Order: sequence, then C-alpha cells, then structure tokens
Amino acid sequence: MPAPTRAQRRRPDRSALRPCPACGHTVAKTAETCPNCGAPLPGPARIGNAIASLLAAAAFAYMAWVLFDFSEALSAFFGG
Ligand SMILES: [Zn+2]
Repeated sequence: MPAPTRAQRRRPDRSALRPCPACGHTVAKTAETCPNCGAPLPGPARIGNAIASLLAAAAFAYMAWVLFDFSEALSAFFGG
C-alpha cells in the first residue's frame, strides 16, 4: 500500500466527510448532528425524515377520517 501523498493527508475524503456549517469541524456525511458542536446537519437523512413525517401525518389524518368519520364530528362540533 503506497504512502498517502501530502494532498491526500491534508484533505480528508470528501465523499465521506464534510465540514460542519456551524463550527467547521469535519464530520461524516451520514451524521445528523455535529459531534463537536451539536448543530443539526442538513442531508438526505433529514429530508427522508421530513418526508416520512409528512406521510405519517397524512396517513394518520386519513385513518382518523375513515375510522372516526371526521366530517360528522366536525359538523357536530361546529354546527351542533
Ligand atoms: Zn459543528
């Protein structure tokens, strides 16, 4: 295995690491928060979580509508 060049040693693997936007600490791309300062890191994982949250909310609303007949409950609440 050849010794790493100076450039490789100075610059970490950019495909796996990135600087924290808050403190500049080099963190893994897969990290959701910076291990140095604790700042949340934007990334695919967070986008996935947001989509999952939206889907869960939509599924919950649909289930509530179907199971509890939401329209009737609303008219009873507002219209008497
Ligand atoms: Zn940080």
